Amino acid sequence: MRYDHKAVEKKWQSFWEKEKTFAAHDEARGERCYVLDMFPYPSAQGLHVGHPEGYTATDIYCRYIRMKGVNVLHPMGWDAFGLPTENYAIKIKRNPKEVAAENIDNFRRQVKSLGFSYDWSRELNTSDPSYYKWTQWLFLKFYEKGLAYRKEAPVNWCPSCQTVLANEQVVGGACERCHSMVEQKEMAQWFLKITDYAERLLKNLEGLDWPQAIIEMQKNWIGRSEGATIEFAIRNSQFAISIYTTRLDTIFGATYVVLAPEHELLIKLKPQITNWADVEKYIAKARRKTELERKVEEKEKTGVRLEGVMAINPANKERIPIFIADYVLASYGTGAIMAVPAHDKRDFEFAIKYELPIRQVIKPKNISKSVVVGTTVRDGLKEELHKKAISFEVGLSRNKREHIRIFLRDDQINDYIKIVQNYLNDNAWVEIIGYRNIFLSRDRVIDDFLSKGREIFEECKRLEPLVRDDKNIWEMLESNLFYQGFVCYEGAGMVVNSGEYDGLDSEEAKWKMVKKIGGNRTVHYKLRDWLISRQRYWGAPIPIIYCDPPAGGCGIMPVPEKDLPVLLPDDVDFRPTGESPLARSKSFHKVKCPKCGQLARRENDTMDTFVDSSWYFLRFADSHNDKEPFNKEKVKHWLPVNLYVGGAEHAVMHLLYVRFFTKVLVDLGYIDFQEPFLKLRNQGLILGEDGQKMSKSRGNVISPDEVVAVYGADTLRLYEMFMGPLEDAKPWNTQSIAGARRFLERVWHIVLEPTSDGATASTAEQEQELRYWSARTIKKVTEDIESFHFNTAISALMEFVNFLYGLREVETPLKDEARQTLLLLVYPFAPHITCELWQEAFPAAGYIWEEPWLEYDPEALQTDTVTIVIQVNGKLRGNIICQTGAGDEEINKLAKAEPNVAKWLEGKKIIKTIVKSGKLVNFVTN
Ligand SMILES: [Zn+2]
Ligand SMILES: [Zn+2]
Repeated sequence: MRYDHKAVEKKWQSFWEKEKTFAAHDEARGERCYVLDMFPYPSAQGLHVGHPEGYTATDIYCRYIRMKGVNVLHPMGWDAFGLPTENYAIKIKRNPKEVAAENIDNFRRQVKSLGFSYDWSRELNTSDPSYYKWTQWLFLKFYEKGLAYRKEAPVNWCPSCQTVLANEQVVGGACERCHSMVEQKEMAQWFLKITDYAERLLKNLEGLDWPQAIIEMQKNWIGRSEGATIEFAIRNSQFAISIYTTRLDTIFGATYVVLAPEHELLIKLKPQITNWADVEKYIAKARRKTELERKVEEKEKTGVRLEGVMAINPANKERIPIFIADYVLASYGTGAIMAVPAHDKRDFEFAIKYELPIRQVIKPKNISKSVVVGTTVRDGLKEELHKKAISFEVGLSRNKREHIRIFLRDDQINDYIKIVQNYLNDNAWVEIIGYRNIFLSRDRVIDDFLSKGREIFEECKRLEPLVRDDKNIWEMLESNLFYQGFVCYEGAGMVVNSGEYDGLDSEEAKWKMVKKIGGNRTVHYKLRDWLISRQRYWGAPIPIIYCDPPAGGCGIMPVPEKDLPVLLPDDVDFRPTGESPLARSKSFHKVKCPKCGQLARRENDTMDTFVDSSWYFLRFADSHNDKEPFNKEKVKHWLPVNLYVGGAEHAVMHLLYVRFFTKVLVDLGYIDFQEPFLKLRNQGLILGEDGQKMSKSRGNVISPDEVVAVYGADTLRLYEMFMGPLEDAKPWNTQSIAGARRFLERVWHIVLEPTSDGATASTAEQEQELRYWSARTIKKVTEDIESFHFNTAISALMEFVNFLYGLREVETPLKDEARQTLLLLVYPFAPHITCELWQEAFPAAGYIWEEPWLEYDPEALQTDTVTIVIQVNGKLRGNIICQTGAGDEEINKLAKAEPNVAKWLEGKKIIKTIVKSGKLVNFVTN
């Protein structure tokens, strides 16, 4: 019988579909498990080979736990709204609705061709009115709760997609989808108030079984910081500048203040500002830049000093200048900063450029550094340092001069000063930077020399090593790689130059200063509210009506629940113009106010598709409910999701939004769990054969359709799981896929013909060995599936098959059990072929998926065999397994027969054989 994958796969797929084999039962008792794949976005290109990677992993897991008696919910659906479909439809001049329907049909066909055990009766589609009715309903609930609001805001505008983008959709200043540079624009937009949930979103990350990297990304995105808001009075003015800082411990080092160019105080200060024309020009220029452009660390800092006004540092009452600069953003904190150039890299650069004072107020504890240029000292310094156990390294500078780079503990500094002074040439100088800042020459020691600025700098210019004239001393030292981050030191440490706080630990000083100097201890988050308005057609309409006739109306009116869904109209020219296409639909735009009945207008924007995918996991528990988004009891039965698998690219947006929705729904009383996904795993990228990301333009895209046609779904599944660890990025390899196919053919043959003609009866040792191999394989595959190490599970199965082939010359009644073991273990990976073989080889048994998962026999693992390493001339060439206590002669014979060893011995004469009993054989040849 030949292995015909086409016939086998078709047969079992239609059987499963017809019998609803994998339907999840709401009423079933016992252990339950909800295993979810991130549902795909059905693009026009169809499935790529990356999709089945995650789907296969979850399918293996589901099939495995079902055999362990668990009642599994494993659904599939389509995240079908969105820009790519709309843009594609525009390009081919068709309606997105039709295009999406075709894409879904194609995706469904492809997914089904891989034999995944989804409960297809729960399939959902976010662009179907039966689904988006409830997306709209949820929006209304958010609105009622005050969690959806409308506000005029500067937004990221993609001029090519003609729509607003969320911050998360702007990558490096460009549109994530079309890579056009994003512009800033003021527009009235709908927001969801995710910031209300920042604290909970952060806290609840604890205890989740998620990849650490994803947890870190979520934390960074939420960006919690604890600091203080403090007022800097403006001299001769009723106004003050409110500043939020996490580093109040550095306030004595604040030598100027910076306002964001959008800061509202500017207008109020205008009458006092004497260079208003320059200020105005700068504001206009800043407006043309996006927030992201302004955030770029490397770009040169610019700003304008506000002439005629001065701020007062509340810590030391010093008068300090006020600047506007676009490196300060209006959207973070209070839109104003106290600039501490000695302890903030951006302030440092700005201060260097505008020649503002730099004052050190925090010292790193227990570490200082120093660099000695070889030509400035007599020989013998290194030996002396060595004697005093002062650590140093020696390097060459760019012009090949020797540099001694020294690391100093606080208690070594005085010794060091003495040594250096002794070795330093007459006209040379050396600095110490860090805990102490010391200028050293043969006859002088100047402490805290950095604060002496200009004066010291002039001095240095007369000494060796030469100092470049156009830099100041701070800049010169910070530009030395060895000192980087040390001259401008951003860490915690000991407070200095700060009056009564000197000598305190910076963390301790911070909260003492808040008390004394005044200020409110406050928590800030980087997280911004979620902008959900999209000026596009292919999304769920926002269910809002504006009643604003000239005579006066009711204002913003939510669409009454009974009028949901607000359907997407068909009479639309959906080509983007910047205005929502829905505004041009006659049937859609004009509507009667639900309250007063006057002619009103609908909201024309649609929702970000991330809203659709923020609650789909709940809908699967009850996907045909037309009375409510989901039945509470059914959700309680199935949720939270036990295992969620998808790409790491959704680390921030999707996962954060889903967690936010979950918490809101808890607060609204619809669900009772705080976290939607208890366990998360990411599959790695599958790269093209050239090791590059698959893309049409590179021409390295592999379609699963071709692979399934030529090799079969089982081979594709097995191959993708065998490529490497699930979470790694892996290049595609067509030769290896043939290897996966060969393995399945070997399974096919060994199950159908386990024993060759003329086989001899088995010995007791052979039977024991077979028991051992079965137990070992069951144990390994079980553990590997549990821990998602599918590639090593497959390796174990391959070894088992090799072993069974080795046993073909032997006849034993244990073979039936071994064949069943093999099929049951391979089944989750390659379900079609194993179903077929099971039916063929064991017609009296039921279906393979009805069998319980195997338990291994621990006794069989306590074998009496040992593994012996074989060397040829001391090099490892193979190993053999044999009975404990086997004689040297037998071991010798087995060792020589090992194929790889035999190759190495071929044509050689064995001069000597060393046998270390039970461990090793070494053949020494001529
Ligand atoms: Zn774009
Ligand atoms: Zn009205």
